[in-house]
Amino acid sequence: MKELRILYLYPDILELYGDFGNIQVLQYRLEQRGIKSTVVPYSIGDTHPDFNDYDLVFAGGGADQEQGILAEDLLKYKDNIKKAIKNGVFFLLICGSYQLFGKYYKGVEGNIIPGLEIFNYYTEALADRKKRCIGNIVINTNLNGKETKIIGFENHGGQTFNIDTPFGNVLFGNGNKFGDKTEGFFLDNVIATYLHGPLLSKNPELTDYIIKHCLDRKYNDDFILEPLNDEFEKKCRKQLLDRFLTN
Ligand code: GLN
Repeated sequence: MKELRILYLYPDILELYGDFGNIQVLQYRLEQRGIKSTVVPYSIGDTHPDFNDYDLVFAGGGADQEQGILAEDLLKYKDNIKKAIKNGVFFLLICGSYQLFGKYYKGVEGNIIPGLEIFNYYTEALADRKKRCIGNIVINTNLNGKETKIIGFENHGGQTFNIDTPFGNVLFGNGNKFGDKTEGFFLDNVIATYLHGPLLSKNPELTDYIIKHCLDRKYNDDFILEPLNDEFEKKCRKQLLDRFLTN
């Protein structure tokens, strides 16, 4: 039986706006296709994981305070994470964890939370803590050559700068910063995004893109995933896209 192994980082600390739903959706879509999924949670104090033992690493979002709590622990794995990224392990990072893979996060009071510095982007909160990018968001991205609309929900004070390879172009909402045209970061096997949602329940095509990437890499093949009955998801998406994109 085929299997994907998922490392779920800091589930007790990073879990905003249904981020755990992403794990559930991954498991559901794998199970429907007869593929086993093993989800291994990791948090502060647990046995050190080797990120290279996994096919997919997932981390959700968290407020500044939570980011401050785990940043030091995460930094311990910098070299291991770098190696795993180089080896093609897929990383899906939402909001707070997205920020922590960059150079740093500067909070409202000017405090610096160090990032892993694996990527060159950096994030700074605005001095006015009431100024946050909050609301529904739709972006356009390219998945294996196919234009795909991604729907989500953003809530971040942090403004992210210096993105060369965004996840997508903003059609509705803010993105990496207020009024930005770009959202998130996407480089090979890393997708980092401000989109909660849960992201994967609203975007089955993205879920399948990630599943295919992981299977192709692990089994050195070019998988054609068995289509699932996404009628309900399609109806929801149409309803949301009509609401957000037609004025
Ligand atoms: N602390 C971050 C910010 O407000 C992340 C918030 C989040 O993960 N939703 O910018």
